[in-house]
Amino acid sequence: MEIQQMNDILYIVVPCYNEQDVLPETARRLRRKLEELIGAGRISACSRVLFVNDGSKDKTWELIVRLHGECPLFSGVDLSRNRGHQNALLAGLMTAKDRCDMAVSMDADLQDDVDTVDAMVEQYYAGCDVVYGVRSSRKKDSFFKRFTAESFYRLMNFMGAETVFNHADYRLLSRRALEGLAQFKEVNLFLRGIVPLVGYPCAVVEYERGERFAGESKYPLKKMVAFAMEGITSLSVKPIRYITILGFLIFLVSLLMLAYSVVRWAQGATIIGWASVICSVWAIGGLMLLSLGVIGEYIGKIYLETKGRPRFLLREVLEDLDGKTD
Ligand code: UDP
Ligand code: MG
Repeated sequence: MEIQQMNDILYIVVPCYNEQDVLPETARRLRRKLEELIGAGRISACSRVLFVNDGSKDKTWELIVRLHGECPLFSGVDLSRNRGHQNALLAGLMTAKDRCDMAVSMDADLQDDVDTVDAMVEQYYAGCDVVYGVRSSRKKDSFFKRFTAESFYRLMNFMGAETVFNHADYRLLSRRALEGLAQFKEVNLFLRGIVPLVGYPCAVVEYERGERFAGESKYPLKKMVAFAMEGITSLSVKPIRYITILGFLIFLVSLLMLAYSVVRWAQGATIIGWASVICSVWAIGGLMLLSLGVIGEYIGKIYLETKGRPRFLLREVLEDLDGKTD
């Protein structure tokens, strides 16, 4: 029983978008890691690194094909076009689902410490289905990145999208968790928020987040804001509830104003207060537009969900039959 358990297949899923600069080094380190774990008898020799090419415009896919040809530990899938980090990751995980016992997702830029995989695998054998990689510190990130990223987690939690603090998409999922994940059919998938909803026993391992090894970040501020919006609106309806509360408060204020103006009228003072009227008009107008916008976001989501478009399409899968379990 014990021996057989140690032979579980691990897939390391790596989404790649224009990562030709960093990919050779990533491949080298991941290969070393897999060989080390296989050598130590922790994982099966059928384990793989699965690169997902997210419609890169550079030579990323050619590189993946070459790596696959050179070493059977490398495998790859090519998406039909760029679908963004979350969908690329999902495509990789869903491809890995039927072939592995556990899958670790990791960024291509080596910011996630490769050695943490050992601890994740240990937790998996200890019975955890989900193991979150959590950054112990962000010393190497710039102040701006750290500040915006940490505000992101706070805002998310305030808005009802519960996520694991300082956990990005570096995590291990067991096959059971992957199968659970596959049942979440939403098109607007926000993995960080969905994985905790899958449930099952989970654990946290800490790691130091390093700097991007080469190439540049694909998450500028604009994308981060869009990502936060995406996360909040796909996970919770709290913003709409806040709008309701706000509307109620404003209604209370207007009742007070009404009482006040009746009193002023009784006192014979009628024309003063022009400034406050104008201010209120602007304030109410702004709030109404904001509220409509938030509601519109949700309606947009509903529209997209009802269409049920595919979340990703595969153009090519580099098959290696010995890597298949069933
Ligand atoms: N990525 C992707 N598709 C995209 C954008 C990014 O697959 O459209 C991948 C990218 O190759 C990397 C990961 O997502 O492996 C995280 O991106 P990045 O390191 O640029 O983000 P940051 O660490 O700066 O937040
Ligand atoms: Mg990065």
